[in-house]
Amino acid sequence: MTSFNGSNNGNMHNGNGTNGNGANGKVKQNALRVIPLGGLHEIGKNTCVFEYGDDLMLVDAGLAFPSDGMHGVNVVMPDTSYLKENQKRIRGMIVTHGHEDHIGGIAHHLKNFNIPVIYGPRLALAMLTGKMEEAGVMDRTTLQTVAPRDVVKVGQHFSVEFIRNTHSMADSFSLAITTPVGTIIFTGDFKFDHTPVDGEHFDMARLAHHGEQGVLCLFSDSTNAEVPGFCPPERSVFPSLDRHIAQAEGRVIITTFASSIHRVAMILELALKNGRKVSLLGRSMLNVIAKARELGYMRAPDDLFVPIKQIRDLPDRETLLLMTGSQGEPLAALSRISRGEHPQVQVKPSDTIIFSASPIPGNTISVVNTVDRLMMLGAKVIYGKGEGIHVSGHGFQEDQKLMLALTKPKYFVPVHGEHRMLVCHSKTAQSMGVPADNILIIDNGDVVELTADSISKGDPVKAGIELLDASRNGIVDARVLKERQQLAEDGVITLLAVISTDGVMAAPPRVNLRGVVTTADPRKLSLWAEREITWVLENRWNQLSRNTGGKTPDIDWVGVQREVELGLQRRLRRELQVEPLIICLVQPAPAGSPAYKGRADAEPDNRPAPRNGRREAPRAQQQPRPAAASASAAPRQAPVAASASVAAAAAEPELAGRVRRRRSGAAG
Ligand SMILES: [Zn+2]
Ligand SMILES: [Zn+2]
Repeated sequence: MTSFNGSNNGNMHNGNGTNGNGANGKVKQNALRVIPLGGLHEIGKNTCVFEYGDDLMLVDAGLAFPSDGMHGVNVVMPDTSYLKENQKRIRGMIVTHGHEDHIGGIAHHLKNFNIPVIYGPRLALAMLTGKMEEAGVMDRTTLQTVAPRDVVKVGQHFSVEFIRNTHSMADSFSLAITTPVGTIIFTGDFKFDHTPVDGEHFDMARLAHHGEQGVLCLFSDSTNAEVPGFCPPERSVFPSLDRHIAQAEGRVIITTFASSIHRVAMILELALKNGRKVSLLGRSMLNVIAKARELGYMRAPDDLFVPIKQIRDLPDRETLLLMTGSQGEPLAALSRISRGEHPQVQVKPSDTIIFSASPIPGNTISVVNTVDRLMMLGAKVIYGKGEGIHVSGHGFQEDQKLMLALTKPKYFVPVHGEHRMLVCHSKTAQSMGVPADNILIIDNGDVVELTADSISKGDPVKAGIELLDASRNGIVDARVLKERQQLAEDGVITLLAVISTDGVMAAPPRVNLRGVVTTADPRKLSLWAEREITWVLENRWNQLSRNTGGKTPDIDWVGVQREVELGLQRRLRRELQVEPLIICLVQPAPAGSPAYKGRADAEPDNRPAPRNGRREAPRAQQQPRPAAASASAAPRQAPVAASASVAAAAAEPELAGRVRRRRSGAAG
C-alpha cells in the first residue's frame, strides 16, 4: 500500500511542543494519546483518535440513534470540536468495518473538515461511498481499499496492519497499530467464529504473532462482557431459520439488520432452498444487498428476487419478504406494516413473521410493541432468545479471554460498551493475569496516555453529542432539544405585551395556552403575566433602555422579552410545578401612550419570594420616565422574529377576551 505523505506540511511553526492541541500544555511528551470521542458508556458512534507528536489518526466514526425524549432527532453524532480544532494534524483515517456505529458519522464530518485519506475494507468503503455521494463530499477525502494483512502508514508515526476478523458484518478487521511507544491491538468488533458463513477465517496467527513480539496495549470490544461462554457461530441459526421457514403455511416475513451480511446471505439461501421468491422492503435493505451482491459478498440468482408489487401474484407459500424494522424503528417497513400503514403489505393471519435480530438496548420497548401489534393482527410471530434465530456478532467472555490470551497485552483498555460492560471486561482481563493497575476504564473525551512503561489518564478533551434532525443537516442543539421537551411535556404559553418606548405597559397582556394542563384560573395567568411585565418595567427598564443621546432611547426589546419569560417561568415552576415553553412578544407603542394600570396592583401581591429585595420598588419610579418619553419618536420596530407572530397572537381571542371581560368587571 502506498503511504500517505505530507505529515510535516504546515506544522513547522509548532515548535512549542504542545502538539498544537489547544489544551493547557499538560501533554505528556513522547506519549501516545488515545482519545475516544464516542463508543464508551454506550453502544454506538464509535470514534477514536490516536495521536503522537504532530500526527493525528482517526479510527472509525460512527453514529448512534436517539433515545427517548430526543424529539425529532434522527441521529446522534459525537461532538467533534476537538477534531475541528486539530484538523490540520489529521493525517488519515482507518475504518474497521461497515456498521453504522463505525462509519455512519464520516460523511457528516467531512462537511466540517477534510480527511486526507481513509483506509478500509472494500465493503465498508463501498457503503461509505454511497453516503458520501449523497452528502456531496466525495472531494473531501481519498478512499483506499485494503486487503487482509495490508500495512498502511499514516503520518510519520503510525503504521496499521489490517487483521481479518469475524463479526456479523462481512469484511471486518482488527488492527495492529505500530507506534513509537509500542504495538497497540485495536480489536474492532469481533467474535471468534470458526465456521464463518463466508469462509473468511479470523487470522489468529497474526494476533499470536503480535502477542509474541509484545503488545503494549489491547483495546477490546466489550459488548458482551457480561455473557459467559463462547458466542455461538453465525451458522448456528441456519437450522432454526430453516425449520421455521419450512413449516410456514403462508408468507414468511423476516426482519434483520440489512448490514448483517452473513444473516441476509443465509436467508436468501434458505429462500432458494424452500422454493420461495424474495421481495425486499426498506431502503437500507435494498441498498446493502445491491452493494453486497455487486461486490460478491452474497451470491443469489437474479430471478430469486421479485418486486413487491408482483409478489402478490404468487401463492403465499412461495414468497418471503425480507425487510427492515428489526429494531421497531417507527418509519421502517415492518413497523409500518404492524400499524397497518404500509401501502403494499397488510398482515394476514397465515403469515409467519420472524425477528432475526435482538433489540439494541434502548429499542426493546419499540420492538415488543411491534411484536404485540403484529400478533393482534393474527400473525404467528417468532422472536426473542431461545428460538435459535439470532446470535450476536460480538464475542462473549470466552472469546474475550481468547483475545487476551493471544495478544498478551501489558496494558488493557475495554472499549465499545456501557459502563458495566467495561467493568465486567476489566475483571475478565484481571482473571487472565493483567494487573488492575494496568487497566483503565475510560469515558468519551478521556485521554489515555501510553508510554513504553506507563498508562495514565491525561486532561480530558471536549466530548459530547451533536444531534441531527431528519434532514441530517440541521443540528438540534441543546436549547432546541430543551424547547422541544418543554413543548412535548408542558406545552407552550404565548404572551403578547404592549409596551411604550418610555417603559409603560400600554395594554393588558394577552396570554395563550397550547397544550398546557393547569388547574389555575386563566385569569390568574394573565395577572401573573401583568405582574412580571410590571416588575421588569420597574426594576429592569434602566438597564434595558439606554438613552444614547439620540432622539429615541435604545431599547433592548429582546432583553425585555427574555426577562418577562424568565420571570413567568420561575413563577409557574414555583406555583404550578409546570415548565411550559414561554414565548413573550412585545409590541412597542409610541412614547406617551396612556398607561394600562391593570389589576396587578389592585390585588394584594402574594409573591412569596421577592427577588433581589427590589420588589418594593415604588411605582413612583415610573413617574420620572415620561421625561425621556417626551421625545416625539416613532415607535421602534419590535424584534423581527417576534413581529410576525404578534399578529397571530393578537388574533387569538380566547384569553384576551377574558382579560377584557375581567377589566370591564373590575371597572364595574
Ligand atoms: Zn459491528
Ligand atoms: Zn460496533
